[in-house]
Amino acid sequence: MEFSSKLLERAVNEMSQLPGIGKRTALRLVLHMLRQPKEQTIALSEALQTMRNDVKFCKSCHNISDQDLCEICTTPNRDLSVICIVEDIKDVMAIENTSSFKGLYHVLGGKISPMDGIGPHDLNIESLVKKVKEGTIKELIFALSSTMEGDTTNFYIYKQIKEYQILTSTIARGISVGDELEYADEITLGRSIVDRVPFESSLKL
Ligand SMILES: [Zn+2]
Repeated sequence: MEFSSKLLERAVNEMSQLPGIGKRTALRLVLHMLRQPKEQTIALSEALQTMRNDVKFCKSCHNISDQDLCEICTTPNRDLSVICIVEDIKDVMAIENTSSFKGLYHVLGGKISPMDGIGPHDLNIESLVKKVKEGTIKELIFALSSTMEGDTTNFYIYKQIKEYQILTSTIARGISVGDELEYADEITLGRSIVDRVPFESSLKL
C-alpha cells in the first residue's frame, strides 16, 4: 500500500495491529476519522489512553476495575460464599448478562496450556487457593470452557482445594465441548449455571 503521507501511513499501521483489522479496513477507519470532527478523534484517543493508564485489576477477583476492588466485589447482597471461576473478563461479562448468578467471581487470566507456555503459576490460582484456605467460601463453580486446557485447569485447581471440604461444581454442559463461554447465548449459559453439577461427577475416573 502506497501512502502519500507518512502520518497517514503511521496511523494505518497502528490501527492494523488490532485483531481482525487488515490494512484496508484500517485505512477506511483512519479516513473516517479524518472526515469526522477533530474532537471526536481526540475523545477516542483520550479514552484509550486513560483506560490504558488508569485501569486496574480487582485485588480480590482480578476483574478489570476502576478501583482497588471491582463493582461486583463491592455490591451489597451478593453471595460472598459462592465463587465462580472463569478464564477471563469476557466470561464475567457473559455470565453477568444472564442475571442468573449472584455470587462472586475469580478471574484466572487464562487456562493452563503447556503448548502456549502457560503454566499454573502464570494464572491467578494461588490467590484463589488462599481464599479457600481462609474458610469463608462454601462453593466453587468451575465455569471454564470445556476444552482440554479448561479441563486440565479445573483439575489442577480441584487438587489444590480438595482437602478443604467445600462444594465444587461445574456448569452444566449444555455448552458443547470446545465452546467458549462468551459465544453461548444468555439463556443457555444462565441455565448451565443454575443447573450446575457436582464437579466430581464430571470427572471421567
Ligand atoms: Zn472483584
